[in-house]
Amino acid sequence: MYLARTFALIAGLLFSAHSLAEWHYEKQAIMGTEVHLQFWYEDKDQAKEITADVMEEFHRIDAALSPYKEDSELSRVNREAGQGPVPITEELASIVEKSLWYSDKTAGAFDITYATLGSLYDFRKGEQANEKITETLLPAVNYRHVQLNREPREGIRTTLAFSDPRTKIDLGGIAKGYAVDRAVAILQQHGVHNASVSAGGDARLLGDKRGKPWLIGIRHPRDKSKNAAVIPLENTAISTSGDYERFFIDDDEHRVHHIFNPATGKPAETDSRGDTADGDKLISVSVIGPHGFDTDPLSTSVFVLGKQKGMALIEELTGFEAVVIDANHQMFFTSGLQQ
Ligand code: ADP
Ligand code: MG
Repeated sequence: MYLARTFALIAGLLFSAHSLAEWHYEKQAIMGTEVHLQFWYEDKDQAKEITADVMEEFHRIDAALSPYKEDSELSRVNREAGQGPVPITEELASIVEKSLWYSDKTAGAFDITYATLGSLYDFRKGEQANEKITETLLPAVNYRHVQLNREPREGIRTTLAFSDPRTKIDLGGIAKGYAVDRAVAILQQHGVHNASVSAGGDARLLGDKRGKPWLIGIRHPRDKSKNAAVIPLENTAISTSGDYERFFIDDDEHRVHHIFNPATGKPAETDSRGDTADGDKLISVSVIGPHGFDTDPLSTSVFVLGKQKGMALIEELTGFEAVVIDANHQMFFTSGLQQ
């Protein structure tokens, strides 16, 4: 009798402690995409504060890096760095530095100066740069024009300059991956152990989904209603780049999309140029690795590099895997995923 009551008491305590914790969800339109947050937490009021902190961080990063906001640090740099060195924040410096590192690593497939021409495209309005402008501005698309001067000496500011006055940069291929990492850091500071944060195609998973893995869908690149694959994941980042995210089909039946080949200054060729798909062109690339700050630029890079060079790059990097879909709609995995 006594024992039974003690048991009931303990069970009751356990149950009530458990029933307090629950999943918290939030969805907001930020950085030109949908930001999703899901995390497990006990206290409802505190969970609201955590949610606000995370969303505020996305808004802060957007305000600094948006090419569409005239007062963003990025816009200021694009206006002024062509005339000479401009002082920049350490945050922008670290993102530019990482971008340049990937430019070197990918022989220029990842190149934030794609924006010199990319900024002339409007995918909603169906506008693209014409051949003449493309030819004229192509020499200004080159990451070697980006001169980052990170000064370790105290009192001397870090600066950025473009050696071609026409050069512009855009961080759309790395900023969302960076942002989901920042979000996870904030969640961890608050003692969260299980979470999923995504900004468009960039997701970061903290822990598992409480006893089971998170199930991440890779969208079918030509059928919105379908997944091409579902991958169980935990404690990792995954970034997907596709030619179906932001695009229009132009008068020549070309798919004009948002991932540029810096060598041509035009959207990377996929399956709609009328030629027979040669099997090396990719239409969807997902890269899995510890941080969004790496998986985001890598998914863009592999997309531009194509299947052979892109997969070779991921195989060479320890801790990274990739799932790609080629122009024939065939799916390929790096060796670490082929169990
Ligand atoms: P999403 O923005 O859908 O997450 P991706 O991660 O695939 O897309 O990155 C595509 C974005 O990266 C483009 O919208 C553009 O802002 C930028 N970008 C496009 N081409 C390049 C490139 N060759 N190098 C660096 N950034 C690029
Ligand atoms: Mg990317």
